[in-house]
Amino acid sequence: MSTQLETSPVSSDTGKVTFLDAMVIGSGVAGLYQLHRLREMGLKVRAYDTASGVGGTWYWNRYPGARFDSQAEIYQYWFSEELYKSWQPTERFPAQPETEEWLNYVADRLDLRKDIQLSTRIVSAHYCEEKGRWNVTTEAGETINTQYLIACCGMLSAPLTDRFPGQSSFRGEIHHTGLWPKEGVNLKGKRVAVIGTGATGIQVIQTIAPQVGSMKVFVRTPQYIIPMRNPKYSKEDWEKWGSRFHELKKRVRETFAGFDYDFDAGPWAEKTPEERRAVLEKLWEDGSLALWLASFPEMFVDEQVSEAVSAFVREKMRERLQSKPELCDLLIPSSADYGFGTHRVPLENKYLEVYLQDNVEAVDCKKAPIEKIVPEGIQTADGKVHEVDIIIMAVGFDAGSGALSRIDIRGRNHRSLKEQWQQEIRTAMGLQIHGYPNLFTTGAPLAPSAALCNMTTCLQQQVDWITGCIDFSRQHGKHTVEATKDFEDSWVQHHDEVAAKTLVVKTDSWYMGSNVDGKPRRLISYIGGAGNYHRRCDEIAAEGYPGFAMA
Ligand code: NAP
Repeated sequence: MSTQLETSPVSSDTGKVTFLDAMVIGSGVAGLYQLHRLREMGLKVRAYDTASGVGGTWYWNRYPGARFDSQAEIYQYWFSEELYKSWQPTERFPAQPETEEWLNYVADRLDLRKDIQLSTRIVSAHYCEEKGRWNVTTEAGETINTQYLIACCGMLSAPLTDRFPGQSSFRGEIHHTGLWPKEGVNLKGKRVAVIGTGATGIQVIQTIAPQVGSMKVFVRTPQYIIPMRNPKYSKEDWEKWGSRFHELKKRVRETFAGFDYDFDAGPWAEKTPEERRAVLEKLWEDGSLALWLASFPEMFVDEQVSEAVSAFVREKMRERLQSKPELCDLLIPSSADYGFGTHRVPLENKYLEVYLQDNVEAVDCKKAPIEKIVPEGIQTADGKVHEVDIIIMAVGFDAGSGALSRIDIRGRNHRSLKEQWQQEIRTAMGLQIHGYPNLFTTGAPLAPSAALCNMTTCLQQQVDWITGCIDFSRQHGKHTVEATKDFEDSWVQHHDEVAAKTLVVKTDSWYMGSNVDGKPRRLISYIGGAGNYHRRCDEIAAEGYPGFAMA
């Protein structure tokens, strides 16, 4: 069924107006797939992206050492066995260039490019209640008039670039990892500062250590880490994974976090200390996120279990700093800080050993916080100026809500999503927001895809659900879909109840929005399990989308 296209004139700076059935913002993992699905449905659809290439996260995050922490065999699209088998990853956790190449390959193979407009920043999207359509404008002044607006903008795509006073006074180069220059940055022999030791900072630090002249790492909150085991994949290896395509496709939809592993170790309480240790050792050796997402779920809710698992990881970390034990306090979380896994656990490769190099200094910026950037470098609260040539800001993102809040989105009665989310971040299962008909979201707050999931699993599931919902409404002759207030209220309540039982809500991190001043505190991602979330979404679809009013 094709839409009756809107024909009334819409003014714009350039005069150019594009009329669409559906518009996708973003051309990363979710955007590419959403474009493909809606085009297959016969809709007139186009995707728009600020970047000059496709890939989303994998376009922007080209900093040294960028790679994912999900194994290549599950960081995949599941709609085509042929596609899965036709691309062969070179290792278990491929680096950014390979993943960017893969997404370009997907775009070519599905012939998506002709419907993607790159180098186009979306600045506003206003809903016209009378017509039941969205008027979207670009930075260049183009207008897109669309029935459905699907935001696939990414949950970690709004980099926190203006973090410190005085940044513009710096005489050297400053780069945020999420906006890393395509042409690269020459770090050879330079005095480099890295601010931030999250998953990104760790990858940068361990990768650039052999090139830099000297490095100062500004450490505020130490991390629990797991050493990555990253074997190369041969053609035969990939054929083996390919032969498991259907099994893996089914498995990742059912597990807690969209991986192929799950909490299968059995209850903590029923195990002896030796048995628990054996489970932890085995998962530690796996060199993946399995220690976190496939060991003991009790660690998320029970202080004692959390402390026992945390102590195990601390012990492993301490062994590696034996030659400089004075570093332990700065680089290893203490039991008073937070528990293992209550925020994102990074995988690493000889990260701690970097601090044993003579030319590397760990600066304790909890004790002496960064005050400002000065022309020579970074000034800390103890009055010291750390002189450097290059500052790498691995300081993170306005996660989940940031990408959408940076667009002037206005729904019914001209209500502003940004203003609304400044008060309280709410969504209906991360798929829609009450008050914004025909706006659908992926990777948005209050769904597992906002943080607690293997991204490809959860993003595809959301795209499939959105596509099904749009199809259903059109088949039933409906023009608009909008999550009801009651449905959204009940989801938010359920989300909060599940979250409140966990220790995650007690830990400061981007999961709780605490990395952005003034951001309302709420767990950004649904923590009731991706498998449960997927089942709930399937039930809603099967029941004819109760909670999503169609008119
Ligand atoms: P992040 O986890 O938010 O880490 C930001 C870091 O910057 C933290 O160490 C933070 O310290 C520090 N920081 C921020 N403001 C600071 C200040 N004023 N002074 C000193 N330190 C400051 O961001 P991220 O490392 O970019 O990672 C974000 C997410 O991206 C990850 O959690 C992960 O989900 C994803 N990611 C994935 C991969 C992968 O798959 N391998 C790699 C990279 C990123 P505090 O903790 O004290 O605030």
